[in-house]
Amino acid sequence: MRVAIFGTKGYDRQFLNRANAAHGHDLHFLEPRLDESTAPLAQGFPAVCVFVNDRVDAAVLERLAAQGTRLVALRCAGYNNVDLRAAARLGIAVVRVPAYSPHAVAEFTIALLLALDRKVHRAWARVRENNFALDGLIGRNLHGRAAGVIGTGRIGALVARSLRLGFGCEVLASDVVEDPELVAMGVSYVPPAELLERAEIVSLHCPLTPQTRHIIDADAIAKAREGLVIVNTSRGALIDTRALIAGLKARRIGGVALDVYEQEADLFFEDLSDEIIEDDDFQRLLTFPNVLVTGHQAFLTQEALEGIAETTLGNIAGFEAGRPLANSVDPAMVR
Ligand code: NAD
Repeated sequence: MRVAIFGTKGYDRQFLNRANAAHGHDLHFLEPRLDESTAPLAQGFPAVCVFVNDRVDAAVLERLAAQGTRLVALRCAGYNNVDLRAAARLGIAVVRVPAYSPHAVAEFTIALLLALDRKVHRAWARVRENNFALDGLIGRNLHGRAAGVIGTGRIGALVARSLRLGFGCEVLASDVVEDPELVAMGVSYVPPAELLERAEIVSLHCPLTPQTRHIIDADAIAKAREGLVIVNTSRGALIDTRALIAGLKARRIGGVALDVYEQEADLFFEDLSDEIIEDDDFQRLLTFPNVLVTGHQAFLTQEALEGIAETTLGNIAGFEAGRPLANSVDPAMVR
């Protein structure tokens, strides 16, 4: 099938080309991200492949439909950037990669938490300057601390398990469905408000939906335990950035590790080292000594990229063959 693949980097090409040996799709790699201005590049392509920061809203979908596109294949798990109702109305199928290696994201979450809490990023910078002083590098043990996990699906369950069994944390969880395996290992499900009141660390792993947008807002920060450490490897808009900055300035928040950011579409995945960054909130975040930011790389392991490529191309092959779509996304999935 002819596929227009938007927002591609070298690593996307490498893994998709390798996996395509088993499929023989006609892959066209495009560097720009999909939005209204770049949608014409997909003229005549029955399938379009996109990632987390491509804009697949109603206007873009209408344009794609008019140009002959019948399938949008997400090469990621989250689908918050797609207007699913518009896609259904226009008869465009949407597929995704529901599970490509939850371990990749869960392990990176723990890496960020440890780096932030033990100040590894600051120590690394000091040692490069031959500064071996330890003042200011005092961390906290994870063992015995109360850690909250919001969203215990594929990724959150692995994080909860690691915190509970690997580090000996008291693990509190919030989700609309409980995972009995986590309960059996001593994880306690509590309402989100109680989780925020009791947890010293909160890690976010729920999807971005209208219900979860700004789940960490000024109110949540005001009710949270003083010194709360927040880790977000899910979606940026789960956190109200301005409220986060206010919480950091008020010293209510003890530390923040982010792999995702509310306005990341304007920044992430590009080398902007010679540019003036216009996003003052993002720049302010970077000035805090207790904030650690990475540019949406939690998924970036060899295993995950292989999984993404194989499932994406398999999804497209299934659509082409008219098979029932195992990984389709539909409006009913947005709670
Ligand atoms: P999943 O669907 O397996 O799990 C999500 C869980 O969140 C489910 O258990 C669901 O019941 C729960 N949930 C839904 N609404 C909730 C709410 N209001 N409150 C609490 N819990 C709620 O998804 P997953 O594979 O674990 O991925 C989680 C998220 O991680 C994705 O939505 C995606 O946004 C993000 N992600 C980020 C990266 C990265 O590179 N940083 C990579 C992959 C996924």
